[in-house]
Amino acid sequence: MNAALQPFERIDLHAHSTFSDGALSPEELVALAATRQVQLLALTDHDTLAGCEAAAQACAAQQIAFLYASELTALWRGREVHIVGLRLDPANTALAAHLRGVQAQRAARVRAIGERLQRCGLDGEAIAGAVLARPGTPTRLHLARALVERGHAADEDDAFKRFLARGQRAAVAPEWPPVEAAVAAISGAGGMAVLAHPHRYQVSAGGLAELCGVFRDAGGQGIEVSLPGMGPGDASRAALLARRFDLAGSCGSDFHMPGLPWRPLGRFAKLPEGVTPITARLGLQPVRSALAASPAAAAP
Ligand code: AMP
Ligand code: MN
Ligand code: MN
Ligand code: MN
Repeated sequence: MNAALQPFERIDLHAHSTFSDGALSPEELVALAATRQVQLLALTDHDTLAGCEAAAQACAAQQIAFLYASELTALWRGREVHIVGLRLDPANTALAAHLRGVQAQRAARVRAIGERLQRCGLDGEAIAGAVLARPGTPTRLHLARALVERGHAADEDDAFKRFLARGQRAAVAPEWPPVEAAVAAISGAGGMAVLAHPHRYQVSAGGLAELCGVFRDAGGQGIEVSLPGMGPGDASRAALLARRFDLAGSCGSDFHMPGLPWRPLGRFAKLPEGVTPITARLGLQPVRSALAASPAAAAP
């Protein structure tokens, strides 16, 4: 165990709630984190901070250190990449404007998908309306659920295969902000930008290194090196990139729902040798004082 991580042996810096595509409310997520003895938690809903205030309050009641955070969707060379922003200031106006832009783009995409579904003879406009009426970030997963509920698909996977996946009848290509803009929005809000799940991008080793270089030059400071689903090879490749580009190592579960035993909330932070833990770079101290690490959590 890396000595610098001892104050937070069980941390989770990547988790979702109902404010994006997670199944638990922020309060339910924190209750689960408490039963799993999580000591430091970041709520990283896609392109929003909307659930963070409720999660911060629930964490304070449970003595869990909490970071305001979000997983920002971005584009690099036509590919979708995800950038986790940790310890964000929710009052930062430039970040809020960035997130509003992404939300507007998402809403337009949902409406465009709804129109395509309508042209397929389905109640697409009603589906889009229902997805946009719920609080939180609208994603294709919500469209898939609505398609299942209305009997147009057998399950979510079927909905993607027949309608929503790239190249299918109702697919609409997204237009996300460039990586540099996402990193700038995070850095400008006092946060730390972390390249999420590097093992999931379908690029060559050389391409991934180029992405890390662009990300680092834009001000990126961390990379996920310990995540469920990362094999030993994935983790050592991520560690190599961390060392080469001087990125700190982050870890989390990318938790979306209970009942997936291989993706549990709260992870023992086992970081590869020679990788600086992100907690050290965030300047986090033992649990109680770390509550002050989030600007909003520190406010009266
Ligand atoms: P979006 O951000 O709107 O493109 O939606 C992406 C979300 O859809 C992901 O976070 C997943 O939750 C979900 N998703 C993507 N592909 C699939 C799939 N083949 N089956 C089920 N869910 C999927
Ligand atoms: Mn997700
Ligand atoms: Mn992601
Ligand atoms: Mn995620």
